[in-house]
Amino acid sequence: MSSDFIPVADPKAQVNAHEPEIIEAIERVLASGRYILGEEVKAFEREFADFLGAGFCIGLASGTDAIALALRAVGVAPGDEVITVSHSAVATVAAVEQIGAVPVFADIDGRTGCLDPSRIAPLICEGTKAIVPVHIYGQPAPMEEILVIARRNNLKVVEDCAQAHGAEINGLKVGTFADAGAFSFYPTKNLGAIGDGGAAVTNSPDVAENLRLLREYGWKERYVSSIPGYNSRLDEIQAAILRVKLRFLSEANARRRQIAERYYAAIDGERIIPPSKIEHTLHAMHLFVVRCCNRDALQNFLKGKGIGTAVHYPKAIHQQSAYADRIKGAANLPRTEELYENILTLPVWPELTDAQVERICSTLIEWSRS
Ligand SMILES: *Cc1c(COP(=O)(O)O)cnc(C)c1O
Repeated sequence: MSSDFIPVADPKAQVNAHEPEIIEAIERVLASGRYILGEEVKAFEREFADFLGAGFCIGLASGTDAIALALRAVGVAPGDEVITVSHSAVATVAAVEQIGAVPVFADIDGRTGCLDPSRIAPLICEGTKAIVPVHIYGQPAPMEEILVIARRNNLKVVEDCAQAHGAEINGLKVGTFADAGAFSFYPTKNLGAIGDGGAAVTNSPDVAENLRLLREYGWKERYVSSIPGYNSRLDEIQAAILRVKLRFLSEANARRRQIAERYYAAIDGERIIPPSKIEHTLHAMHLFVVRCCNRDALQNFLKGKGIGTAVHYPKAIHQQSAYADRIKGAANLPRTEELYENILTLPVWPELTDAQVERICSTLIEWSRS
C-alpha cells in the first residue's frame, strides 16, 4: 500500500493528534500506584455521565460486557427473551447469550437501518423481558416509539450505543432514554481507548448499584460477594486516556458530520445512495455507509485509487454459521437481508484532511460518471 493510501479507519491518527496529553495521562497512572478502579475511572465515569446528561456511568471491560451486564442489572435472567436486530455487530447478540438470555430478531426499518418498532409487537410472548435497539452506524433508533411499546408490555430496554457516542434525538443524547445504555471504547469507535473498554449508563440508582456489584464479583464490601458477579472493570490507564479524548469528542463528531456533508454533496443518489437523513436526530457518523448495486466493483475501483473501504457487515448475524437456523424471528427479516449485498463503508474518521476528503469525493464522482 502506498503512503497516500487512505484507510477506512485510523485509530493511530487520533493518538497522534493528542499524543502529549495521552502520554501525560499514562504517566499519571503509572505514578499513582493505583491501577484498578481508582481516581481515573471515578473521574471518567463522572465526566462521561455529565457529557451524556446521564445520572450514573459505570466503567466496564468492553462494550459487549456493557450490554450483558446492563441486561443483568435491569433484571434479565437466563432463559428470558431479548428482542434485538440481526443487523448489528455480532457483539450485540453475543452479549445477550453471554448471560444465558435468548435473542429474538425483529426486522429493521430500511430508512434508518435500526429496529423497526412496528415489528416488535408480533414477537412479544410470555418469556419476553427486554428490547435492545442498536443505534447502528451512529444513527439513533426511534427510542420514543420503542419505549411506548416497552412500557405497554412491561419490558426493559437497553440501548446499544457502541457506535453512537454523542448521537442525539431531539437534543438529548442516546444512552439516556432507556433503562440503561451500553457504550464501547474499542479503539475505532467515536470515543476509543488504546485497548478494550466499555461503560453502561443509567438514570436509575438501583440499576447503577447492580452494575457496580456485577462488575466486581458482586462485592458490596471488599472480598465479600452479595450476588454472583463478573470481573469486568475499566482499567485506570484506559480511563485516563478516555478522559483526554472525551474533551475532543464533540469536536471530532462535528468533523465527522462535516466530512459526511461533503460526501452527500458528491454522491449522485442514483448509482451510489447515501444514508437517509432522519429528522430530529443528530447522527454520530461513526460509519458513513452507502448503498450501491455494484458494491464490489465500487470497492475495487476505490481500492485501485488508494481509498480503503469496508463492509459493515458482510453477513447479518442470523446468516453466520454460529447463529444460523436457531434464532427466533430469523425467518422473517426481508429488510435486513436486502441490505447486505449493497452496503459499503467510506472513511469518515475525523483526522482525515480536507485534501483526502476531496480526493475521495472526486473519485466517487469519477466512478458515478464512468
Ligand atoms: C463494537 C460494538 C459492540 C461491542 O463492543 P466491544 O467493546 O468490542 O465489546 C457492540 N455493539 C455494537 C453495535 C458495536 O459496534
